Amino acid sequence: MEYLHRCLKKLHGNTIFKFHPKCNKLGITSICFADDLMLFTRGDVGSVQAMMDTVNQFSTATGLKASPTKCRVYFGGVDETVQQRILSITGFQIGNLPFKYLGVPLMCRSLTVNMCKPLIDRITSKITHWTSKLLSYAGKQQLVKSVLFAITNYWMQVFQLPKCVTKHIEAICRSFVWSGKAEISRKAPVSWKKICEPKNAGGLNITSLNEWNLATLGKLLWNIQAKADKMWVKWINIYYLKEQDFFVWQPKSDCSILMKNLVACRDIITQSGYWQAVLQNGFYKTSKMYMSLRGEKEPVPWRKIGFQNLARPRAQFLIWMAFMDRLNTKTRIQQFGIHTDLRCAFCPEQETINHIFFECRWTRSVWTQMLVWLGYHHVPGNWQYEKQWITMETNKKGWRRQLLKAATTELMYAIWQNRNAIVFAQGTREDHVLERVKFIIYTRCARHRTLTTHFDENTLYVE
Ligand SMILES: [Zn+2]
Repeated sequence: MEYLHRCLKKLHGNTIFKFHPKCNKLGITSICFADDLMLFTRGDVGSVQAMMDTVNQFSTATGLKASPTKCRVYFGGVDETVQQRILSITGFQIGNLPFKYLGVPLMCRSLTVNMCKPLIDRITSKITHWTSKLLSYAGKQQLVKSVLFAITNYWMQVFQLPKCVTKHIEAICRSFVWSGKAEISRKAPVSWKKICEPKNAGGLNITSLNEWNLATLGKLLWNIQAKADKMWVKWINIYYLKEQDFFVWQPKSDCSILMKNLVACRDIITQSGYWQAVLQNGFYKTSKMYMSLRGEKEPVPWRKIGFQNLARPRAQFLIWMAFMDRLNTKTRIQQFGIHTDLRCAFCPEQETINHIFFECRWTRSVWTQMLVWLGYHHVPGNWQYEKQWITMETNKKGWRRQLLKAATTELMYAIWQNRNAIVFAQGTREDHVLERVKFIIYTRCARHRTLTTHFDENTLYVE
């Protein structure tokens, strides 16, 4: 490719060859990335002929030929008879905008919902893959956090996605987390806004797309402001800004839609606290801008339960639901008009969250034994009471609190799993639940030396 660029450079001195009107000031004739090559020239027969001669010279020297079926010519404001002559010189077919380049659509108008369809299709195909059906709530949440966000983020590095598209993507993700399906449903025990909040504010720290998109646009703004050594920044400076300060510059009606979008959001970005830090340090981090745009959120008292909790993610998801008071107990389901047998899975009393954790005789006895095992002399109450006690204890430091955090999380998960097995699959009460939970904790803590010094392999725990 280096040789091709050298050949194309020779066109600069060719009197017949004329640059594309928006490329002459930077002398751009080609852009190459991976195995894609874009050539730019003015739409006249002489210039195209001169360019094709150079390309043919390159092909003869290297044996690398362009495939006519894969190449396209894109015209802008070129007379139809000239277009036909150019097509016969190149042997390529005519192409229409938008076309896909490096996975995203290239076009001169604003991004429409229809153009975002490949993005939505990719997300839907990830969700409908058979393996995603086997995931727990925590697994689905992780898939949304990593894969689905990565797909969307790739587009957001170059576009401002239409609000209805981000809303649609978030609705797909919400449905997937709660129902495991891509079909949008309104069923959601916790609002998406809450889920997107940071963990210390009681959320799950899933990225809010609109704010993330603003932060990615901020990066483009910073590149323009810092006059980064990038071709697109130079191009914008020469053709749009023309030595004007971007922060006072107003776009003309025929200006690129991306520039218009950047101007529309520049005030929000530059008024954020982080922008001042960027100006001082000369370094922009999208995630820090995102945090700054989100602002400070009111922390929840029980925030420590989600930090450095050694329990399995699926168990952590359950305890988060319990702290949010969103577990679908039978009495809660009845409030939504679904009539069901209200009896507890373990006793004849009515199933509420306070009953199952830990007013119920059986769960209370297991919880009491767990507390004794952990060395606590605490008389348990109902869930509202225990919630406060757990919050108070986990806000303290030390290995015992870390064990309490993991043990509470795993035990509540085990009880809930057992309850589900009885309610939905005619299961029976698990008599060795405590031993199983202890073993899980032992294996989860095995890699943490500060904790294992307080363990014994046979009794698992030494006072
Ligand atoms: Zn009960």
